Amino acid sequence: MLQDNEGQEMSEKLKELEEKRKRVGEQLGRVGDMRQGSLSARYLKCGKPLCRCTKEKSYSHGPHFSLTKAVKGKTVTRTIPKEAVESTKAQIARYQDFRKLSQEFLAVNEEICDAKLTESGGNADQDQKKSSKRSSKLRLSEKSKNS
Ligand SMILES: [Zn+2]
Repeated sequence: MLQDNEGQEMSEKLKELEEKRKRVGEQLGRVGDMRQGSLSARYLKCGKPLCRCTKEKSYSHGPHFSLTKAVKGKTVTRTIPKEAVESTKAQIARYQDFRKLSQEFLAVNEEICDAKLTESGGNADQDQKKSSKRSSKLRLSEKSKNS
């Protein structure tokens, strides 16, 4: 009896979840130009003997903007022209939005997967050692079914 009720609820829930997935997916598609990394401004001395930067200790050329990003443990640097600084800042900010959305997207997908497991009779191998929270939850529901 209990299980029947749960089954119906699950279908409703699954529908809602799939609608949410669609919404988040559409939002993801609308994020626009974005990029990962951090922007920094540097002041440099060119080293030419007659240049002001050599004569005056406090004078340097700049700011020169660059975007740094870690790729496979290495830092990759890219020069950003002054006129692209504002748009680069916006692109970096959008990456944060993208991250939030993609986490939401993953979360709703995982909920859908879980809901489908439960709908298909709940005989899923609950052997997921990765998430202790989830596996303890599943273990609990198994126990209550058995008793
Ligand atoms: Zn100089």
